[in-house]
Amino acid sequence: MDSLDRSTIWPYDEHGEPREFYYSRYASPTVAEAERALGALEGGEALLFPSGTGAATALALALLTPGDTIALAEGAYYGTSVLFQTLAKWGLRYVEFDQTGPPPDDVQLIWLEAPSNPFLTMPDLDAAVAHPAPVLVDSTVATPIFLRPLEHGADYVLHSVTKYLGGHDDALLGAVAGHDLADLQSFRTRTGISPAPDPAWLLARGLKTLEARVRRQTESATAIAQRLAEHAKVVTVRYPGISGLISFDVADGDAARIVETSTQLIANATSLGGVTSVMESRHRWEGDRVPAGLLRLSIGLEDPDAIWGDLAQALNKL
Ligand code: PLP
Repeated sequence: MDSLDRSTIWPYDEHGEPREFYYSRYASPTVAEAERALGALEGGEALLFPSGTGAATALALALLTPGDTIALAEGAYYGTSVLFQTLAKWGLRYVEFDQTGPPPDDVQLIWLEAPSNPFLTMPDLDAAVAHPAPVLVDSTVATPIFLRPLEHGADYVLHSVTKYLGGHDDALLGAVAGHDLADLQSFRTRTGISPAPDPAWLLARGLKTLEARVRRQTESATAIAQRLAEHAKVVTVRYPGISGLISFDVADGDAARIVETSTQLIANATSLGGVTSVMESRHRWEGDRVPAGLLRLSIGLEDPDAIWGDLAQALNKL
C-alpha cells in the first residue's frame, strides 16, 4: 500500500546534508510517488499543484512574460478564460480560436482542451504542433486512458485531478505533465504553489481504478447519449465518444431548470468525473457563452438504466 507522509520536514543525512526530501514546499514523498505514477501514465514527468487552476496559473506565469498572448480554445473550461482575464493586469493577453483548425499567428502559447468543456469539441493536435508556439492540452476530460498528448507532440498536459483522476469528488488537485519540468518545479517552489500530501495520496489511489472507471463511464455515457438524442424534448446532444461527459440542450433556461431540479439519483451539482452522476445548467455560471438550455451531465458508476430512468422522468416533466 502507498503510505501517506504528512511531515513537512525530514532530517538531513549524517554529514548534515539535505536528502531527497527535507522541506515539503520543495518536494515530499507522497506527492513524488503520485507524480511518478501520473508521469508514467502520460509518458513523461508530472508535477502536482493545489488545484487544476493553480496548475494553470503556475504554468502561464512560469512560461510567459508581459505582452505575450495565449491562443485559447473557444468554448474551453470557463474558469480558464476567467483566469486569463485575471492575469491581464500582469500584461498577459489571450485570444480565442476554433481548436478544430489551426491556431492564429503571433501567439506565444497554444491552450487546447480535449475535449472542451462543455462543448466537447476535440482539438486538431497536428495543426497545433505544427505552430512554432508551445502547445498545452488540458486533458482533464479525456484522461490518459483515451489521449496521451505528449505522444502527439504536445509540450504540456494539464489536468484538473479533482475530476476523473481523483475520481471521487474528495480531492482538489491539479497536475502538469511534460518532458522537462525542472523550471516549472523551481517556479512552484519559489512561488509556494505546492501541493499537500493528502490529495496526492487520493490521486495515487484514484489512478488504480482510473481505467475501470472511465471505461464503464464511457460505456454508460454512449448508451445515454443515444437515448437523449432520441428524446423528443432534447434539441442537441454533444458527446465525443470518450469519457463520461455529455452536454445536451433542452428548449430554454426554464426547461433546463426543471430538468436539473427533477432528478433524484443524478445530483444537481457542479464538477464532473466522479463516481456519482451530476448534472447542472451551465448558463448560471457562463451566461450567454453557452445556450440557456444547455445541461452538462457527468455520468458516474451507477447502473446506466437507473441513470436513464432518472433522466427520462425529469425530461418527461417538460
Ligand atoms: N480544466 C477543466 C477542463 C475543468 O473542467 C476544470 C474544473 O472544472 C479545471 C480545469 C479547473 O480545475 P480545478 O477546479 O481543479 O481548479
